[in-house]
Amino acid sequence: MKKVINQELMRNTNKTQILKCIKEKQPVSKREIAEELGLSTTTISTFIKELGHERMIRPSGIGQSTGGRRSVLYQLNPEYVYTLGIDLKVDRLIGVLLDFKGEICGSKATDLSDQDEWKVIPLINNFIQEILTENKLSIRQLGGIGIGVPGVLNSESRVIEFAPNLGWRNVDLPAMLALNKPVYLENEANAGALGERVFGSAKNVSHLVYISVGMGIGCGLLIENKLFSGNCQQAGEFGHMVVEPMGLRCRCGNRGCWEVYASNSAALRMYKGSNQENPVLFQGFLQKCRAGESEAIKVLETVAQYLGIGIANIINGLNPEMVVIGGELIEVKELIYNSLVKTIKERTLEKSFASVRLEFSQLGNKAVALGMGNIVLDQMLKTEP
Ligand SMILES: [Zn+2]
Repeated sequence: MKKVINQELMRNTNKTQILKCIKEKQPVSKREIAEELGLSTTTISTFIKELGHERMIRPSGIGQSTGGRRSVLYQLNPEYVYTLGIDLKVDRLIGVLLDFKGEICGSKATDLSDQDEWKVIPLINNFIQEILTENKLSIRQLGGIGIGVPGVLNSESRVIEFAPNLGWRNVDLPAMLALNKPVYLENEANAGALGERVFGSAKNVSHLVYISVGMGIGCGLLIENKLFSGNCQQAGEFGHMVVEPMGLRCRCGNRGCWEVYASNSAALRMYKGSNQENPVLFQGFLQKCRAGESEAIKVLETVAQYLGIGIANIINGLNPEMVVIGGELIEVKELIYNSLVKTIKERTLEKSFASVRLEFSQLGNKAVALGMGNIVLDQMLKTEP
């Protein structure tokens, strides 16, 4: 009996490995898959036939294999199933629909004016329905939904234990959404790191720090190609490292945390402090920066300096291959780049600085939603017995 179970397990492991290999290398020939996975071409042929019957893959043209022989190439069947990735921000929902091949087939964003979970949850449900309708899909075609959240999850990644900037504690989001589909959660900065790794500037990067600058600051860490979440899912909370020992109070209770000095809310606090104007939103602040208003530029300089100090600390501690900065701030990247790099260079160990690449996210505001969509896709590749 045990032997039968092991054989079944082995079969499913092989099948999943083949699907993962196709996802990474598509379009790809049987021979390439066999070489990549160290399996025989006969084994691959059997699985390819099965996966074709199940409509999970389909032929995708003819390629030139070694020795000049022409061979059929395969890719994931885009229409097999769709996934939806959502970035749940404090003031905004951003959604991206992916087909099974991993290509974007729709996106949507909407503002959130309230953070109360009883109000936000029906809005998420509406949002899901709208993005599906706009792209002529039904919930039946959806394999699952992934939601990136600005907070800490429990060990099963099911309950949001604490999301300080939303003011949520112990929210079982999947249960409250009551959708008849699997819902996967991940910390938004972790999702952003995965989004950059799969779709953005960090392809083939195995030591990555993704810095998500929003109303707070979160960091997603990829170490040797794996998300590093620490002992109890709290890793990457660099937003709460101290940069001013006698500084202002943070929401976490500590003083002088990095996010109190380098986040969007830090910029708004400093700007109001020096301007006396009515409260401005972050987009308004960015507009003033772009218009060259001197007070705004001065604040932006200060924020960029603090951002650089924190990034230097992270580089010194983790020696990453790449640091990607994401968030609305990158809309004025040309205004902060010089002072950011100057600060980082001044405060980073020479060898670490020489070997790190600093990038601004190229995914616009979609890194987190894309990362979440991809998390769901990877779940769909797991073949159950
Ligand atoms: Zn703090």
